Amino acid sequence: MTTTLFVSDLHLDAGRPRATAAFREFLAGEARGASHLYILGDLFEFWIGDDDDQPLAREVTAALADYTRGGNACSVMRGNRDFLLGPRFADLTGARLLTDPSVVDIGGESVLLTHGDLLCTDDHAYQRYRKRVNDPRLQRLFRALPRSWRRAAGAEGRRRSRRYSAGRPAAYMDVNAEAVAAAMRQAGVRRLVHGHTHRPGIHRFALDGQQAIRAVLGDWYDQGSVLAWSATGPELRSRAFG
Ligand code: MN
Repeated sequence: MTTTLFVSDLHLDAGRPRATAAFREFLAGEARGASHLYILGDLFEFWIGDDDDQPLAREVTAALADYTRGGNACSVMRGNRDFLLGPRFADLTGARLLTDPSVVDIGGESVLLTHGDLLCTDDHAYQRYRKRVNDPRLQRLFRALPRSWRRAAGAEGRRRSRRYSAGRPAAYMDVNAEAVAAAMRQAGVRRLVHGHTHRPGIHRFALDGQQAIRAVLGDWYDQGSVLAWSATGPELRSRAFG
């Protein structure tokens, strides 16, 4: 069995060029040896739409295109920040857009992949917000706005999100154990990989009498975080920023 790699929550943004550089380095190096690279949401701090013409969008799109042109398989799931990633982004990068949640085969085992915000069911206000922004009619209206307006709306949304998170107890923003168990039962899996909470870890627990694993990806704020899943199981690696 070869190695499958997972990343999420890079939150790439023009204001943090070191994270973007680290991601490009990762694509050009460690990721080349993987059988598949899964990006499980929030690759970007905000995505205004596939018509984004800013240098960051172009730079990352080109780096991913280069990666897949080299024969590397890559799947991208939308997160709660880049939920507007669309078919044009997929075309330009050669990556496959992955529905949230999805079950994939990793080395003969079914693994449930999700960004993770769906599992944070204790945060009712957030779940209401999530429903709103995922409304296709609202998304169509938003996409029709000029790019500069969408950019401004994204910046305002990030300010609000920071204020919201600062005023909440941490446990609120973690996944709910029952939601995790329910999602795994429904998918018929004993393996789960998600991000969103920025609490990297590999949790082993019993689910209906069977050994289960929940692997949580870390963010790319101060260093890179990569989950490598090979025949020996999942392993978290961190990558120092250059
Ligand atoms: Mn997220």
